[in-house]
Amino acid sequence: MPELPEVETICRQLGPEITNRTVIAAGSHESGKFSPARKAKGKRFLQLRRRGKYLLAELDDQTELIVHLGMTGQLKVMETDNQRSVGSDYERAWWVLDNNKTIIFRDVRRFGRIALVEKGDYSQIPTLRDMGPEPFSSELTGEELWRRTKGRKQRIKTQLLGQRVIAGVGNIYGDEALFYAGINPSVRSITRVQAERLLESLRMVLSQGIKMGGTTLRDYRNLDGQGSNQDYLQCYGRSGLPCLECGSVLRSRIIDARSTTWCPVCQKR
Ligand SMILES: [Zn+2]
Repeated sequence: MPELPEVETICRQLGPEITNRTVIAAGSHESGKFSPARKAKGKRFLQLRRRGKYLLAELDDQTELIVHLGMTGQLKVMETDNQRSVGSDYERAWWVLDNNKTIIFRDVRRFGRIALVEKGDYSQIPTLRDMGPEPFSSELTGEELWRRTKGRKQRIKTQLLGQRVIAGVGNIYGDEALFYAGINPSVRSITRVQAERLLESLRMVLSQGIKMGGTTLRDYRNLDGQGSNQDYLQCYGRSGLPCLECGSVLRSRIIDARSTTWCPVCQKR
């Protein structure tokens, strides 16, 4: 599933393509998960930004078009071709712009979602409404991250993935950050010092992910093609292989339905 670096990469690439462009036609798959895409017709994009794993496109009538890529969602920019029928090949939504470009949302498994809301009103999207701070927010400190984890009963890995403690982290960057911070993914509480290290590690792995254009393991594509961060992963997906820090064999198990990899030595309980 696309996480913060993947969505940020798409946001940076797509933003200049749509800013100040007007949607002259829009269409979608009939599912209510995608049909709000049609409501953007006739409106102009003011700006595109990212919040957690969501893309938020502000429109010129005080509304926002919200796109969540789900597991397999992809956005592509194509030259508008009136001969080609959009809607085939898992294309779930599309917007024809006034610059001869068409933005296409393709989503094989249909876990993605599109919504159109009054600007800033996320009451119908609880994950977005209740989302924790952005990892790169200058107001977020290790102390604050520690405070946000305190008293929660879930395992730290699950807390990170839940989006309420901090925004944008999923399975890949969660495993990577916990590995670099030396924190066992199964613990239910962390110390202030560990929280400092965790925030530092999160910022490091997320900024590297952005720099590499995201991590492409299966479906993720940015507008230019594949990301390359998969070549730099130290922990995620390396179960059974030696730890690059200490040489111990990395382990994995399912934690709250998510496959989790860690080093039994570097990330002692
Ligand atoms: Zn190790």
